[in-house]
Amino acid sequence: MEALILENLCKTFRGSGGSEIQALDGLNLRVRKGERLAVLGPSGSGKTTLIRCIAGLENPDQGRIHMEGSEITLSPPDQRNVAIVFQNTALYPHLNVFENLAFGLRLRKKAKSEIRRMVEDAAVTMRLQGLLQRPITELSGGQQQRVAIGRTMVLKPDIFLLDEPFSNLDPDLRTHLHSEIIQIQQQLGKTMILVTHDQNEAMAFGDRITLMKVGKCLQIGTPRELYQVPEHLFVGQFIGRPKMNLIEGILQVCSSKLVFKISGSEGRSLELPSVPGLLIKDAARKGVEVCLGIRPEALQVLPCDVPSSDSLPASMIPVSVEKIEFFGAESCLYLNSPFGNLVAKCAEPLKLTTGQNAVVRFSGSSGIHFFNPTDGENLLTGGSEENQA
Ligand code: ADP
Ligand code: MG
Repeated sequence: MEALILENLCKTFRGSGGSEIQALDGLNLRVRKGERLAVLGPSGSGKTTLIRCIAGLENPDQGRIHMEGSEITLSPPDQRNVAIVFQNTALYPHLNVFENLAFGLRLRKKAKSEIRRMVEDAAVTMRLQGLLQRPITELSGGQQQRVAIGRTMVLKPDIFLLDEPFSNLDPDLRTHLHSEIIQIQQQLGKTMILVTHDQNEAMAFGDRITLMKVGKCLQIGTPRELYQVPEHLFVGQFIGRPKMNLIEGILQVCSSKLVFKISGSEGRSLELPSVPGLLIKDAARKGVEVCLGIRPEALQVLPCDVPSSDSLPASMIPVSVEKIEFFGAESCLYLNSPFGNLVAKCAEPLKLTTGQNAVVRFSGSSGIHFFNPTDGENLLTGGSEENQA
């Protein structure tokens, strides 16, 4: 069963100048029971509004929310078994760790002995045992955030909502807390939704990721699915560093080969590896405008000084190496080519230096994508929100 189903959720705010801001724009999302879902998206894409609607802190203008089989669209927050942790969760600074953890339980008028037991349990899970008597002000940022999460945990919610809870912490601590929060989720077996604008955080945390853009969930899938089969240009561009190369042009089948040419130019044609997917080949028989997306690792760069690029096979691109970024096991090569600037990711050791001429070829058919230049849909998958499983 699904823990949460959001159907056609819409929410409009009125801006300061009276303008309308559509924070959620017909959003659809299904969250599985017990899964870790990362809600990823740029700032302003509606992530916090979505979380607030799930928690009942905001009412949607349209659409429905079902939680654990019951409709709760307009139910008050205290009738939803969810707990929420924000980026700047305010703890009670005048209380110690124990009292912060116990606060919600006291409000719910639990017995003293029960409160002690529940707080001590949460302290074990959150590794706060030795800190229960400490004032909040004497804790590190990471410890404070653990208290904030622990405080929601004692309330035993069905669904945990975490809205950028690690954003203010330094990278090492964030990585540490990612593994901790995953362990805790596995231990509790509860549904957890983590909001983030950081793709690495989303990849590290999520069984699945949904990517938001201006109030909609564009795609939901495992991190691998989003990387390997982006249903929209935006997904392909947002996920993966360095970013996917994009070139607009015409795709055509010439003597049973797939050939790409930059729009309006008399420049080179590029022969592409054969791709699975009859749809694109059918369209390409007549010639179709595409936005060609190439992952940096789909390009191989070989040293080669060709006097005239005309002598190169059509499946290769002549380039010059503009810049090399070294990352240890691999390097990113920034290249100048007749198709514009390209980025390639290559394993070390490299046999190339800055300023050198080289040729680029495809390492295979994976990492090559075709998007509709008008609406951004992936032409091989026919991406749409209804494809969500
Ligand atoms: P995110 O969390 O992805 O950064 P938000 O959900 O906070 O995005 O905001 C989505 C859009 O709605 C933004 O343009 C934001 O300015 C606007 N917004 C959010 N809350 C309000 C509000 N209370 N009043 C007016 N505009 C709002
Ligand atoms: Mg936000």
